[in-house]
Amino acid sequence: MKITEHQEECLNILQEECAEVTQAASKIKRFGLNNRREGDVNDNLQNLEMEIGDVLAMIDMCKDAGIGLTDEGLERAKLAKKKRLGQWMNTNAGEK
Ligand SMILES: [Mg+2]
Repeated sequence: MKITEHQEECLNILQEECAEVTQAASKIKRFGLNNRREGDVNDNLQNLEMEIGDVLAMIDMCKDAGIGLTDEGLERAKLAKKKRLGQWMNTNAGEK
């Protein structure tokens, strides 16, 4: 089934926002949580939070655009991912 122009635009922006989350996470790893680039209002943590919010907004937009994403499907996928990570991650939240 082909997608509409609007669905494609939503997916394009979702891709872009995911890339911005990747960049924001990378900046924290390179420069720290509270580093702030000269001229920037936000520090790296605030920037990551903003970019994740952008992704969440685009997920809502993709749902509204009718490409078939559902709250139930996303929740099922989220729980399955957490279960897999519980088996394969080398670290946990309690570690320093
Ligand atoms: Mg963004």
